[in-house]
Amino acid sequence: MKRFLVTGGAGFIGSHLCGRLLREGHEVICLDNFFTGSKQNIYKYLNNKNFELVRHDITKEYFAEVDYIYNLACPASPPHYQYNAIKTIKTSILGTMNMLGLAKRCKARILQASTSEIYGDPKIHPQTEDYWGNVNPIGIRSCYDEGKRCAETLMMDYHRQNNVDIRIIRIFNTYGPNMAPNDGRVVSNFILQALKNEDITIYGDGSQTRSFCYVDDLVDGMIKMMESSFIGPINLGNPSERKIIDFAKLIIKLTRSKSKIVYKPLPADDPTQRKPDIKLAKEKLDWEPKIDIKEGLIKTIEYFKEFI
Ligand code: NAD
Ligand code: UDP
Repeated sequence: MKRFLVTGGAGFIGSHLCGRLLREGHEVICLDNFFTGSKQNIYKYLNNKNFELVRHDITKEYFAEVDYIYNLACPASPPHYQYNAIKTIKTSILGTMNMLGLAKRCKARILQASTSEIYGDPKIHPQTEDYWGNVNPIGIRSCYDEGKRCAETLMMDYHRQNNVDIRIIRIFNTYGPNMAPNDGRVVSNFILQALKNEDITIYGDGSQTRSFCYVDDLVDGMIKMMESSFIGPINLGNPSERKIIDFAKLIIKLTRSKSKIVYKPLPADDPTQRKPDIKLAKEKLDWEPKIDIKEGLIKTIEYFKEFI
């Protein structure tokens, strides 16, 4: 039996990952400061003898004996990561340094949850891992983008200098049950607005694109990456790209909503297009997403009905 540390384990992706690791028979320490995560997400694991919940902030040192670390702790939605921008960048930099120090001492393998945001507003499309990105270093998204870019730098330097066993994944927009209803991301906003027959708020003209991956597909890719000998970075996401306006119409259709579409100002530095190139994931991990957007959205809509 191996012991896994999942930082950010009470969050959206982390809670699915904890469940999957427990089902595979592993011991799991779920570490979270509950900034954007919730006990509700991991409530069903509390009686599992292989599960341990720790309230802790990764910007402070943490000591435990572990074999594997998934470093997911970091708010992911723009309103949440901009709420306390300095804390966000501390989480990515100090937090990742603390987790790398832990990995070094324990000789644990550590996987960093990086993001498509490291490509910024990309000038090449779809985004391949060798693209260095187009990030505004002083904008309102930079606390997250530059924090995650620096976390990748730290991962590579601990690997080169101290031989730490690392893996880096770049996650593209992921959705599914356990997303926080108040997180302000497009999937939660549109589904809740549609279920309540309220106006659907499109930022800008809705021509910007995103590519949405269902969480179960993502978790499969994360586990394959942790088990692989390839250190990355590697893109994990669903290459099926759509305009935000078309996404709004799809949600209205699937929820049979009476909502109307309204247009709001586009936030600064909002990327105009985003789609992962996943050739590397196919080649190195034999991974590609399997869950179609409608199937994934129907499960997600069911989950959000609890909050109406
Ligand atoms: P989330 O906000 O639901 O989960 C993040 C978790 O980290 C929360 O439980 C939060 O309480 C915890 N956390 C935040 N700061 C912490 C700190 N300083 N110490 C301890 N815990 C802390 O977000 P998510 O969507 O589950 O994202 C998980 C990870 O995946 C993040 O690192 C995010 O950057 C990355 N990611 C997610 C997406 C996506 O589409 N969901 C895309 C790219 C990258
Ligand atoms: N968006 C929108 N309406 C909303 C929330 C988001 O039009 O109520 C847009 C947002 O401007 C962006 C896209 O949807 O272009 C995805 O936003 P999200 O915050 O989910 O994630 P991002 O990919 O920008 O980090």
